[in-house]
Amino acid sequence: MTEAIIIGGGIAGPVAAMALRRAGIGATVYEAYPSGAEDIGAFMSIFPNGVDALAAIGAGHAVLDHAFPASGLEFFNGNGKRLATLPLVPGPQTITRTALVRALHAEAARRDIRIEHGARLTGASIEPDGRVTAHFADGRSATGDLLIGADGVHSRVRTLIDPAAPSPRFLGLRTICGYAPVPAEPGVYRMTYGRKAFFGCTASPEGETWWFANVPGPELSRAELRENSAAHWRDHAAGFYARDRAGVAELIRATTGRITPSNSYDLASLPRWSAGPMIVIGDAAHTAAPNAGHGASMAMEDAVVLAQCLRDHPVRAAFARFEEIRRPRVERLVATSARMGGRAAPGPVKRLLRDLMLPRLLAKRPRNSSAWLTEHHIEWAEVQ
Ligand SMILES: Cc1cc2nc3c(=O)[nH]c(=O)nc-3n(C[C@H](O)[C@H](O)[C@H](O)COP(=O)(O)OP(=O)(O)OC[C@H]3O[C@@H](n4cnc5c(N)ncnc54)[C@H](O)[C@@H]3O)c2cc1C
Repeated sequence: MTEAIIIGGGIAGPVAAMALRRAGIGATVYEAYPSGAEDIGAFMSIFPNGVDALAAIGAGHAVLDHAFPASGLEFFNGNGKRLATLPLVPGPQTITRTALVRALHAEAARRDIRIEHGARLTGASIEPDGRVTAHFADGRSATGDLLIGADGVHSRVRTLIDPAAPSPRFLGLRTICGYAPVPAEPGVYRMTYGRKAFFGCTASPEGETWWFANVPGPELSRAELRENSAAHWRDHAAGFYARDRAGVAELIRATTGRITPSNSYDLASLPRWSAGPMIVIGDAAHTAAPNAGHGASMAMEDAVVLAQCLRDHPVRAAFARFEEIRRPRVERLVATSARMGGRAAPGPVKRLLRDLMLPRLLAKRPRNSSAWLTEHHIEWAEVQ
């Protein structure tokens, strides 16, 4: 049986392993962290196309059993004035990253897929017979027929494929996520254009408000991301909304428990996705700014389509076919998400114009304008 080495046990990694198993290809996942649930503070929206990709391999429940749905967006300005509403039909599911990764790992384990933790890839070498050996920081190694880099935005596999690969672009924004024990209307995402920064939140069925703040600032180091306390991030985030009257600063200040910061990046067009028996998928190949809330769904789609291609073609032809299918779609998402990023602090005139124009723009928006993204369907049996 063909054996794949998958680097990264985040989202694309375990999904790829399950899809490959369904395609008759063996796979082991190697994850750098000792457990699979880092970034425990963050939450994400999984759109119907992401759930559809999981459903193609019988794993849709990994999202649906641990998420809650939203059916619309409401937009407010910094004064708390409602500017517009936008139905989301069909809408996204909201889930913590921890719950999603745990559910994917549990489903992979149920299918007898091995996930090795504490395995940080440092290098790879090609054997005389064309197979590939992955080398890990702790001295371990593993040999397989192909190596899939599902190792995220700061991918090591990307630079093994092409040492000249571009680095992700830092977008000058941090996203800070938290949970406030404040009940709110369920089923909607409330988006606020604060004077200094954009803010979004939604309510869980348990009566919590889950929020994110997109605030400007320089790129945070790994140490800063991990070491600063919740109180620090609470004050930092709340400060951006102190002059607004939309209740955002108060909500942030009501937050108890962990608050998670992250840097925002994108990577628009990676010249090389594969070399020999190695390929990258998910954020390692294409990183969308978080604005569209679609990176995880795309990672799930990638994982399933790559497995279909490997089912239907020899490895090199499969990689070429995968890139042919996926590149236009994922690059369109990265461009779309980057365009949605113009939310940082405009001056008073631009704010006024935005408040006037936003309802009109949303009203004029064709009903199916995001259908290409959210209604994408993968039919497992379809030959690629
Ligand atoms: C603030 C923020 C909010 C977001 N919100 C959303 C959202 O609402 N909806 C959405 O769809 N997407 C969202 N995203 C994007 C989403 O998180 C990513 O697109 C998605 O996680 C990509 O999945 P992946 O499997 O490719 O990478 P990841 O989920 O990043 O997984 C990569 C894994 O590889 C491991 N790894 C890294 N290097 C190595 C190595 N050398 N050896 C072994 N393992 C390694 C990492 O530890 C990690 O577990 C958001 C992103 C951010 C930053």
